[in-house]
This record gives sequence, C-alpha cells and structure tokens, in this order.
Amino acid sequence: MVADVALRISSDYKDREPVLIGVLKGAFIFLSDLTRHLTISVTVDFVRATSYGPNISSSENIRLTKGIEIDIKNRDLLVIEDIVDTGLTLAFLYDYLRSFGPKTVKVCTLLDKHERRKASTVIDYACHVVEKGFLVGYGLDYAERYRGLPEIYKLKF
Ligand code: 5GP
Repeated sequence: MVADVALRISSDYKDREPVLIGVLKGAFIFLSDLTRHLTISVTVDFVRATSYGPNISSSENIRLTKGIEIDIKNRDLLVIEDIVDTGLTLAFLYDYLRSFGPKTVKVCTLLDKHERRKASTVIDYACHVVEKGFLVGYGLDYAERYRGLPEIYKLKF
C-alpha cells in the first residue's frame, strides 16, 4: 500500500520537489518507507503536534511542540500523517503551515479512520481506510509502546 501511494505521489509531483512534512512521532516509520519508494526528489522536515496523552481519548486542545525549520514559502507541501481520526490535528497543522505562504498543501496519511471525524479535512492520499478501533504498530503507539511492531494491530482493552 505504501509503494502504491508512493507511485501516485511520484507521478503527481513529477518535475516538482515537494516538502514532506512528517508529523511526529507516529509517522516516522511510514515517512521512512514512503520516502524510499518515491522516484522524485523531496525535502523533508518535521512538525509535532500533541493531542493525545497517555490515554486514547482525543483532546481538542492541540499544541504545537515542534515547528518547521526550513523555508516553505512558495513550496509544495505534503503533510505525512500516521492516522487521521477526528481530523482536528490535521486542521490545526493545515492552518499553521498555510501561515508560511506555501504554494500548495496536500495530505497523505497511512490510515484514514472515520469513527470520530469532526473536522472536514481533505485527505489527498490514504494507504488504508479503517472505520474504528485504536491501532498500534508501524510507528503508532499506546502510551509510547508498540511503535516498533512491524504490522498494525487493533488494541484490545
Ligand atoms: P486527530 O486529531 O485526527 O483526532 O488525531 C490525530 C492523532 O491522534 C494521530 O496523529 C495519532 O497520533 C493519534 N491517534 C488517533 N487515532 C489513533 C489510533 O487509533 N492509534 C494511535 N496510536 N494513535 C491515534
């Protein structure tokens, strides 16, 4: 699925050099694999927005704990998310990134989870659509655990 999305991105961004904005921490493995499958040149930077603490309930109080470090004015941005749930983090990041005057901002997520969507966020590329559940592995954690699992699992409580 990651290779398929990388193929589409490589085709859509042919002759451009997008900036991949990885959303820490959950997207780090997806971003690494995706980047290695791309056949175009990219620049990489990271942001971190915290919306979840050690539990699984979504906090609407999103904080930016790491901002971008490179100049993204007039650049094509591709936000790389691990999972979009309520969409509030993405909506927050979208506004934050837009304030720097990029040319375009698009979104690529490993998982598109519909269960609790609140913000009407546009997702341009999704590897996999899921309905519900709390997922871990392949970068996704539960209280900082399970990120290293090579596959994605639904947590049982
Ligand atoms: P949203 O703001 O869309 O509700 O949540 C986005 C963030 O919440 C994701 O980047 C991720 O860090 C976390 N999140 C949402 N759903 C899950 C899930 O099922 N598993 C894990 N591990 N994190 C999740």
